[in-house]
Amino acid sequence: MSTTYGFDTLQIHAGARPDPATGARQTPIYQTTAYVFRDADHAAALFNLQEVGFIYSRLTNPTIAVLQERMATLEGGAGAVCCSSGHGAQIMALFPLMEPGRNVVASTRLYGGTVTQFSHTIRRFGWSAKFVDFDDTDAVAAAIDDDTRAVFCESISNPGGYITDLDAIAAIADRAGVPLIVDNTSATPYLCRPIEHGATLVVNSLTKFLTGNGTVVGGCVVDSGRFDWSASDKFPSLSAPEPAYHGLKFHETFGPLAFTFHSIAVGLRDLGMTLNPQAAHYTLMGIETLSLRMQRHCENAVKVATWLENDPRIAAVTYAGLPSSPWHHRVERICPRGAGGLFTFALKGGYDTCMKLIDNVEIFSHVANLGDTRSLIIHSASTTHRQLTPEQQTAAGAGPDVVRVSIGTEDADDLIADLDQALAKAAG
Ligand SMILES: *Cc1c(COP(=O)(O)O)cnc(C)c1O
Repeated sequence: MSTTYGFDTLQIHAGARPDPATGARQTPIYQTTAYVFRDADHAAALFNLQEVGFIYSRLTNPTIAVLQERMATLEGGAGAVCCSSGHGAQIMALFPLMEPGRNVVASTRLYGGTVTQFSHTIRRFGWSAKFVDFDDTDAVAAAIDDDTRAVFCESISNPGGYITDLDAIAAIADRAGVPLIVDNTSATPYLCRPIEHGATLVVNSLTKFLTGNGTVVGGCVVDSGRFDWSASDKFPSLSAPEPAYHGLKFHETFGPLAFTFHSIAVGLRDLGMTLNPQAAHYTLMGIETLSLRMQRHCENAVKVATWLENDPRIAAVTYAGLPSSPWHHRVERICPRGAGGLFTFALKGGYDTCMKLIDNVEIFSHVANLGDTRSLIIHSASTTHRQLTPEQQTAAGAGPDVVRVSIGTEDADDLIADLDQALAKAAG
């Protein structure tokens, strides 16, 4: 499929074609573990990576291959690998780059689960993270040292709706000769295309807006195909001979698909965080309507955020779609189609009023998720950001008086009325 088609066309068609065996128009769920080889030579060629094909569904599966091609196309990348969750995708993105003793320079404004994963769990692999305010570009540049192998941030960050100046960060990573990894979960490729701003790898949680209806847990890493892994000796997994494949060099052999092939042939093979074909099917169906949903999420978020900002019970609203936001000036350059459906607001009544608000909403669901057609609400400091220190919570925009909402695609007037009645009960 031509990648010059518009987004609305590509979100339905990219990667998919009528099933060659049956003509089935919708992508079938290939619910199979293994694939019959044509003959013994075919099997040997597949195992040697001399021929591309299907061996075993821990590595590749036709339903997942369609989703990978669609994600690569929508993000404007060379290739993609899907995995079992957004958090899995983050490990899969770092895995070919890192070794014991290496570090990633990461933004302080990240999804709480990512802060925890980077602060604690990756240390078990001998990796570490240095957290920096990504609005302080000098501090980002200063944090990169000889052991840094990646720079990591979110395009629109969860929960605060902060927008990263991706071009500025990409330029710093480029000068240091390390890749920029962007978590594009809150924006999706409809609102932001990080590769056009210099990102090397884009990670997405498929769980959120991409599937869009709270049915799937999944993740994806898209590779721009533009990073020169052989320019230094920093990335031996991609540039040096791979002992498990008879000395094959991934970058030399696969060029712009080096990262993708390594992620499948080594990452999925040995880490095993594979997506299942059912989840890929639901996600493909969700992505067919991504642009339509994101437009409504953004429109509704502007209406609800504007109403909240003018309500005397509210202390602050962080939505970058509001002209009052310190990050509003970045919307046009970084995410020109809108600032997304996610934001936080602070209540003058503080922590107790937040708790009562959450217990009194009727349309909003109190869940630890985002990017659903349903509107969702949560108190981040006591839940998603609970593992963080109070300083980390405040830095991430998740202080004790703050509530996070993911605005759904319902009628905006109903959402406003629901918050209005719940705020009244919370105050009373
Ligand atoms: C949810 C989320 C993740 C993790 O994704 P899972 O699919 O839940 O593992 C990572 N980053 C952001 C911004 C998220 O919102």
